[in-house]
Amino acid sequence: MEDCIFCRIGRGKIPSHKIYEDKNSFAFLDIHPHAKGHAVVIPKIHAVTIFDLEEKQMQPLMLAVKKTMGLLQKKLQPDGFNVGWNSGAAGGQVVPHLHIHILPRYNGDGGGSIHSIIKNPREKDVEEVAKLFR
Ligand code: AMP
Ligand code: ZN
Repeated sequence: MEDCIFCRIGRGKIPSHKIYEDKNSFAFLDIHPHAKGHAVVIPKIHAVTIFDLEEKQMQPLMLAVKKTMGLLQKKLQPDGFNVGWNSGAAGGQVVPHLHIHILPRYNGDGGGSIHSIIKNPREKDVEEVAKLFR
């Protein structure tokens, strides 16, 4: 998309530190890293959220995530990772082009797990939610 910042990075109009690229996806270092090696993986096709991607576009994207994690593992030897994405404004998404954050984790880095993102005590009735899926 013309004015999408990540599409512009894809077209080389905005500089970035690309660390992985294939036919469908690429990964580059986050400009404001939250960890050493913090990278984002994006589909080349413009999609705001995962719901804008066709099913056949998911597998290449996940493969790119795995390849990028492999490169980070090789170059930086982290002790673990957090991998995920902010989807929608409520989920903290700022850039409206789907991007999967890869956060290398290092022993003693002081960070938390995915569970530390949200802990809403008002909405914990698992039974009520489970009923909606029956
Ligand atoms: P979010 O949409 O909240 O999941 O995060 C967007 C991420 O994109 C942030 O972590 C930004 O630091 C990162 N970002 C924004 N612009 C650039 C850029 N030009 N190059 C690299 N990373 C960027
Ligand atoms: Zn885009």
